[in-house]
Amino acid sequence: MSKIALVTDFDGTISDNDFFWHVVNHYLEADALKPWEEYMAGRMHHIDALNAIFAKIKVPEAELLSFTDTITLDKTFYNLLELCKRKEIPVYIVSAGCDYYIHRLLGNKIKDYGIKLVTNHGVYSKENGLKMLPPTGEPYYDEAVGISKAAVVKELQEQGYEVIYAGDGPPDVEPAKIADVVFAKKILLKRCQELGIKTQKFESFNDVINYLEDL
Ligand SMILES: [Mg+2]
Repeated sequence: MSKIALVTDFDGTISDNDFFWHVVNHYLEADALKPWEEYMAGRMHHIDALNAIFAKIKVPEAELLSFTDTITLDKTFYNLLELCKRKEIPVYIVSAGCDYYIHRLLGNKIKDYGIKLVTNHGVYSKENGLKMLPPTGEPYYDEAVGISKAAVVKELQEQGYEVIYAGDGPPDVEPAKIADVVFAKKILLKRCQELGIKTQKFESFNDVINYLEDL
């Protein structure tokens, strides 16, 4: 068996709901979504659309953090972390969102399991809202999304890893095209079917656990 690495998206894949939609639905008016429509129409970069929308959050930080805590996670992800630790499978979380809420939601798990988090840096203030700062100058930097998930997959493959990729959204399509095994749900599943990319059943991370245990 070749060596395996697990690369997964965060929003809508580890978390049940995207931080983005969670915040938009709770705090913002419908017209705040204009930048998102621009992104969907291909006229705006993903990171610029998110930053334009996140800038409109103007609540005390303590409130934003406790609201962030109401985002639920696929708890089977924690079981997968245990399995990966046991099998010495490196785990990468790649996100077009930011560390601000991923750290809040995963807490010590990131450190305890040695998860490599590749994402934008997020800074919040009541005055300026949430600002995502892409890792310019880093090898995974991407102008449109902040980080290139496909670059993470590619580098691992160049290091000799067979990459298992899990995701659910548009920024997961490019990495899914090159990953060795793809677990897809929602929009990603639909796009993979259109593109003829083979996918595995993915209702929860239990499906990934079953796959790894059968190897
Ligand atoms: Mg997602």
